[in-house]
Amino acid sequence: MKKLAAGNWKMNGSLAALAEVRALLAAHPAPACEMLLCPPATLLAAMAGVAAGTALAVGGQDCHPQGSGAHTGDISAAMLKEAGAAYVILGHSERRADHGETDALVKAKAEAAHGAGLIPIICVGETEAERDAGKTLGVIGTQLYGSLPKDFTSANLVVAYEPVWAIGTGRTPSLDEIAEVHHYLRARLIAKIGGDATKLRLLYGGSVKPSNAVEIFDVQNVDGALVGGASLKAADFGAIVQALSAA
Ligand code: PEP
Repeated sequence: MKKLAAGNWKMNGSLAALAEVRALLAAHPAPACEMLLCPPATLLAAMAGVAAGTALAVGGQDCHPQGSGAHTGDISAAMLKEAGAAYVILGHSERRADHGETDALVKAKAEAAHGAGLIPIICVGETEAERDAGKTLGVIGTQLYGSLPKDFTSANLVVAYEPVWAIGTGRTPSLDEIAEVHHYLRARLIAKIGGDATKLRLLYGGSVKPSNAVEIFDVQNVDGALVGGASLKAADFGAIVQALSAA
């Protein structure tokens, strides 16, 4: 299994920001881990052009469950693929909160992604209130089982554990808390598809930065990271890529 350092640019970046991508590739032309950036859809084709023939993959941040039609403002999985995407983030907590995305919708999107040949990165995570109420594993189990596409394997799916309260806040769970959730995710996935799930990449996401990446990547069942803010700068994302390559 090749570990995965995935960056989520969210609604940030412009053509000028592609200079950061060139700098990242100049500093890390052949990392031991897989490297992925998910820019806004408007930058996807341009970033794919910069990434062509390099170790960098590009991905989308969302897709529509249907292939085409009267869905103003939406983008299909096939459109992402044509623009150069290999992956698509689905069910990010900001999509779940801002756009009311349900587990059933995330599942339908993941199946559309598979239909277009994309690898979905399905995000799950608890709110702070849910953690305080001792509901973390229950919430995550429900999100996971509700969002999984049919016929998934370790080769065509990635799962990211992103505690909502850790995203963009500078706060992270303890290493034991991360280990507990990742162990639980692994067990639930093995219960679904058997031994192949031992190779399915489980990412941690939520305020990963160069200063905490080494200790997070040392946690059992953490096979990479989904990185927001720190993926915007080549130096920061490059340090995270380096830490994962060494883990
Ligand atoms: C994210 O949005 O997926 C994320 C993890 O953000 P940040 O790294 O900025 O917390």
